[in-house]
Amino acid sequence: MLVGSAVLLALDTRPAAAQDLNRARRTIEHLASRRLHGRGYVRQGERRAADFIRQRFKQLGLQPLAPGYFQPFTLDVNTFPGQLRLRAGNHALQAGADFIAEPSSGAAAVNGVPVYLDSLIYNDEQAGQRFLATPLQGRILVLRQRDAERLRTLPTVFAEHVQQAAVRLTLVSGKLTASLSSTVAPQAQLQVLASKWPQLQPEQSVSVQVQAQLRTAYPTQNVVGFLPGTAQPDSFLVLTAHYDHLGQMGRRAYFPGANDNASGTAMLLELAAYYAQPEHRPRCSVAFLAFGAEEAGLVGSRYFVKHPLLPLERIRFLLNLDLAGTGQTGATVVNGRIHEAEYRQLVRLNDAGHYLPELAPRGRAANSDHYPFSEAGVPAFFLYTRGTPTHYHDVYDRARTLPLTGFAGLFRLVVAYCQVLSRTP
Ligand SMILES: [Zn+2]
Repeated sequence: MLVGSAVLLALDTRPAAAQDLNRARRTIEHLASRRLHGRGYVRQGERRAADFIRQRFKQLGLQPLAPGYFQPFTLDVNTFPGQLRLRAGNHALQAGADFIAEPSSGAAAVNGVPVYLDSLIYNDEQAGQRFLATPLQGRILVLRQRDAERLRTLPTVFAEHVQQAAVRLTLVSGKLTASLSSTVAPQAQLQVLASKWPQLQPEQSVSVQVQAQLRTAYPTQNVVGFLPGTAQPDSFLVLTAHYDHLGQMGRRAYFPGANDNASGTAMLLELAAYYAQPEHRPRCSVAFLAFGAEEAGLVGSRYFVKHPLLPLERIRFLLNLDLAGTGQTGATVVNGRIHEAEYRQLVRLNDAGHYLPELAPRGRAANSDHYPFSEAGVPAFFLYTRGTPTHYHDVYDRARTLPLTGFAGLFRLVVAYCQVLSRTP
């Protein structure tokens, strides 16, 4: 990282002519850095990110939509703040890279010879009976992802038996993709890359240590500001991006979330910097909503829609930015098939300005923070860039490898579209 401290970042508030790609890159590097702990619920990562965004809103002269720019709310979330260790024979596997905890994994500290689930149980009754007769209490069960998935094709007694194990260890052949849960299971549940799982001798043991902590009513926040319009201040364009991510997993591993969604947050801040300049002040008001707890199930945006800080019926349009860090092949527009006239307008602007190589429409999808607004009748698009790398919800979604190919183009497209939207009465 080039600029190492929050102090330096804080001083860098020169207004940019359009968007400032270097500043955006530094914003992403900061948000995705280890110091923010993956912007989750261990070591107050989400709060550190929220404080940073609030500071920028303030420096830019945005008006707060709530006291101190924070709209507080709470959530239940399972976390992995402490030990997370897996050893198979002589091999120590690395948390984050070689294995992850499943979202609702519970805690465990177990050492022993593992039990392998025999794939024969799916078509051989005797194998099934043998498996059911094997005691699993206090033991580590190893099974392949495919077998884990088709457990529900068997009588429920099999799934219940699997739950008896102290640890369920699923060997995954593709990539590891982490997520969050609001509940915790009595069993430790790990996903391990099959390619990293060693061939063990029959007597070799496996040791698992997982600390899991369910945080109930964890206090977090949306960061909310706006710029009043020059002609129609009671009419709003709303720009949104979630700033939270998956946090830490064990003591060392964390999820940087550079593309998801430090990139969209940086875009939101660049748009705020642009509209804060007197010559760019829009005719109608523009609200900037940085949502928390998106990764936990759109918790922040759902909360906002239930407790709106501006009248939802006064929103002309909402643009949600999530995954803004690639773009070699353009961007996808969720709800593009719903708001067809608006989508055609967006494509016309893109064709005229050559902002992005291509736009592609999608129907409705509950995949980001536009969704609770859409469901409440607010017209909204969710724009995400398409391209490489495709790291997603893993420890490789880093700032260093994020190309930002479509960042400037997407910025200009959003500004062009907002200009059209702010003109229509
Ligand atoms: Zn995500």
